[in-house]
Amino acid sequence: MKVRILFFTALILLIPGICISQNYDIIIKGGHLIDPKNKIDGVMDLAIKDKKIALVAKTIDEKEGKRIINAKGLYVTPGIIDAHVHVYFGNNMDQGLMDGPNSIQADAFSFRAGVTTMVDVGSAGYRTFPKFKETSIDGSQTRILALINIAGEGMRGGPFEQTTKDMISRRAVEVAKKYPDIVVGFKLAHYSGHEWGPVDSLMAAGKMASLPVMVDFGGATPPLSLEELLLRKFRPGDIFTHAYAYFPDTRESVIDENGKVKPYIFEAQKRGIKFDVGHGGGSFRWKVAVPSIQQGFYADVISTDLHTGSMNGGMKDMANTMSKFLALGLPLQDVINRSTWQAALMINRPELGNLSVGTEADVAVFSISKGDYGFIDIGTDKLKGTQKLVAELTIRAGKIVWDLNGMAANEFKKF
Ligand SMILES: [Zn+2]
Repeated sequence: MKVRILFFTALILLIPGICISQNYDIIIKGGHLIDPKNKIDGVMDLAIKDKKIALVAKTIDEKEGKRIINAKGLYVTPGIIDAHVHVYFGNNMDQGLMDGPNSIQADAFSFRAGVTTMVDVGSAGYRTFPKFKETSIDGSQTRILALINIAGEGMRGGPFEQTTKDMISRRAVEVAKKYPDIVVGFKLAHYSGHEWGPVDSLMAAGKMASLPVMVDFGGATPPLSLEELLLRKFRPGDIFTHAYAYFPDTRESVIDENGKVKPYIFEAQKRGIKFDVGHGGGSFRWKVAVPSIQQGFYADVISTDLHTGSMNGGMKDMANTMSKFLALGLPLQDVINRSTWQAALMINRPELGNLSVGTEADVAVFSISKGDYGFIDIGTDKLKGTQKLVAELTIRAGKIVWDLNGMAANEFKKF
């Protein structure tokens, strides 16, 4: 009798076990997984269930997955974060990056480069943010976060970015507090006056809201002191963008006239100041990037500054921008780190840019093409490289949103 009870108990316990076959929605098998936050760099399987990362393990049984994706020979990474883009697109032809034709539609450019999160940096100001949210953010599959421009209109161009009386810290903070899920900081860009008022308004907003600020150091003649900005105005965690730009007449570069990285740049980085690549259409020069890397000055975060003025030039897209850092000699793991986990830390979103179990399943799968490649900076110089990252598959919140070669599709069979 006892034996029989034990037998039935065992059977009851086994039944749910049988039912949990096909436990996972997707299993990505055999890829080389790079997850810098969790210090994973090796061949691992990854399973997704209910839009979340469910398991990362040496082997996950194929029988447990509804859809199996073979990633042998490919690299599986967290969904890429592009921490500097402009996605407030619109057809107001005279409004530049703010609800204008120079911004781009996020979903049209993100997934095809492995990107699942974009940070729009200051296209909208406190006055124009609500419309930005309504027209560009709410309907987007790409996760869009934003820095609020300290100029009320945002990047509308011309006088709109020079009018200091419209740089009102309190108003920017109100918007940040109203939309904490989207707003991750504040931005000042393109200001060309030779005084510190706009930086001070920006810093005031950052302090009031306890959020980081980003500065695109405009273009004053003579230039404002970069050392003053980095060592005295900025707090640890504040962000200097266009790290490898070269505009000798209007803004200070991180290198001196002999190509030597200025000592205060290292000091600033040690203080916790963040440096963002922000490649753009005019802000990435090999003549700055090459000596910087050789001397050990690495921008913390790789980003594109994607807009219509950069995407058809040397920048192209995030995968190409990341490939440039392979050409500069950075190991792949480091390139992924600066495009995922370091970006998540910079914007204070530690739930992003990693593959920890329980996080939203944003995943990128890359191949590396080997060949003889030329990488253009902003249209003047070319650096040769032998590797190019190609986004093969992108998953956003558990959904396949990009599949270059049908990795996740069924083989076509005749009727
Ligand atoms: Zn920009």
